[in-house]
Amino acid sequence: MFNDCGVVIEQLLRRSGLERVAYVDIDAHHGDGVFYAFEDHPGVIFADLHEDGRYLYPGTGGDSETGKGVAAGTKLNIPMPPGSDDLAFDEAWPRVLEHLSRFEPEFIILQCGADSLEGDPITHLRYSAASHGKAARELAQLADRLGHGRVLGLGGGGYNRSNLAQAWSTVVENLL
Ligand SMILES: [Zn+2]
Repeated sequence: MFNDCGVVIEQLLRRSGLERVAYVDIDAHHGDGVFYAFEDHPGVIFADLHEDGRYLYPGTGGDSETGKGVAAGTKLNIPMPPGSDDLAFDEAWPRVLEHLSRFEPEFIILQCGADSLEGDPITHLRYSAASHGKAARELAQLADRLGHGRVLGLGGGGYNRSNLAQAWSTVVENLL
């Protein structure tokens, strides 16, 4: 099993000469193998909207987890209560854009796991595909404003096939 997001981040930082890579995660689970690997890395600008760890594996991602040492302040964790819908997503999302804008990342990764959509059998969030579309569209706009246009969308969890199809086709549509 490979942590595709982690490998991409390492490659960008080590081989492509980039200094600041953003990782934005809207999968229902916290971190997905990336948060603790880069918790003390100041070049990884991290933002994660996930179901509150009191209700869902892996139980981490409190809002006090903002990065360690020289990386303090580069990580943003937003735990969402069970039942959070598109409206809740809309309310929380501007914090992600603000966080990224502050650090001006040279590359943006969107981990667009679809298990945060209503009807997923193992989580309790209730977004529609519109939230995934909004995330993709607004990150692409931010990347354009930053002058590089670099956004990479990667899959993630999702245990309802119809949701997967809707979320990821909406992400592609909005990136285009
Ligand atoms: Zn997940």
